[in-house]
Amino acid sequence: MIEFRQVSKTFNGQRAVSDLNLHFKTGAFSVLIGTSGSGKSTTLKMINRLVEHDEGTILFAGEEIRSFPVLTLRRRMGYAIQSIGLFPHWTVAQNIATVPQLQKWPRARINARVDELMALLGLDTALRGRYPHELSGGQQQRVGVARALAADPEVLLMDEPFGALDPVTRGALQQEMRRIHQLLGRTIVLVTHDIDEALQLADHLVLMDGGQVVQQGTPLEMLTHPANDFAREFFGRSELGVRLLSLRSVSDYVRRGEQAAGEPLAETLSLRDALSAFVAQGRDVLPVTDSQGAALGSLHFQDLLSAEVSHENRP
Ligand code: ADP
Ligand code: MG
Repeated sequence: MIEFRQVSKTFNGQRAVSDLNLHFKTGAFSVLIGTSGSGKSTTLKMINRLVEHDEGTILFAGEEIRSFPVLTLRRRMGYAIQSIGLFPHWTVAQNIATVPQLQKWPRARINARVDELMALLGLDTALRGRYPHELSGGQQQRVGVARALAADPEVLLMDEPFGALDPVTRGALQQEMRRIHQLLGRTIVLVTHDIDEALQLADHLVLMDGGQVVQQGTPLEMLTHPANDFAREFFGRSELGVRLLSLRSVSDYVRRGEQAAGEPLAETLSLRDALSAFVAQGRDVLPVTDSQGAALGSLHFQDLLSAEVSHENRP
């Protein structure tokens, strides 16, 4: 869907990003992660030409993005940012309808779309006529995402969209985004500096430093095979075990056919949640069930400590 070939950008004689080669695949949830100033926002903004690249090629749907009129490009790409940018004197419904309004959709179609998006984002329709200052931070951010999705863009670009939220609201919105991505199958490129957010959301993860790509791959590849010391340190040696547990599911470690006593674990549960269940139930073996609730086998606490999780990433 979006491809960068040897792309660079210089501001005032200073390289902000260099020699980027990236491929954001159709329908994938891609995440750019890195420290502050590593070039994440610049990379994202080059996609919708808020920043123009000055070397290399950026392709969108197979064509150089400069060959599209800017407005056409932006219409095909929703954009949501941390500071939200809701219009303060417009209601929730008017804010969500910004782009359909510009495109002169019929009134009935706009109203139906606003209702649909509010339901999708878990916003009570009673909020339709409220103004942004009458909403919580989490609700404002949901309106911002709804607005970005309003004209059904092919691509959704998000720059630290949950950065200003408290951890609980943030976690809820991350789960919403995952659900919405699975539901709509849109191509998403999200920028964050939050490692756990990146690991939770990404199909494809790009680690940046100093304007360059350090490594890209799936979260699991990045954790288990860091390309260099920077990547290893960035993903945190000390918390690596727990992070790996949250990326793996009970089904990867189930001993099929075995029986055990205790409150059963669903096979789709993450190993991190399974770990909590072992502790809460004070047991070291628990039964595992499939999605229909039928007995599948058992999970041994000991197996969580095995192989990859404890050994693979030793320097
Ligand atoms: P990140 O989003 O990872 O924090 P940015 O892409 O915003 O990083 O910035 C990368 C580098 O480019 C930084 O050194 C920043 O100061 C510089 N930069 C970004 N935008 C501009 C701009 N409009 N003018 C000048 N320098 C910029
Ligand atoms: Mg930024």
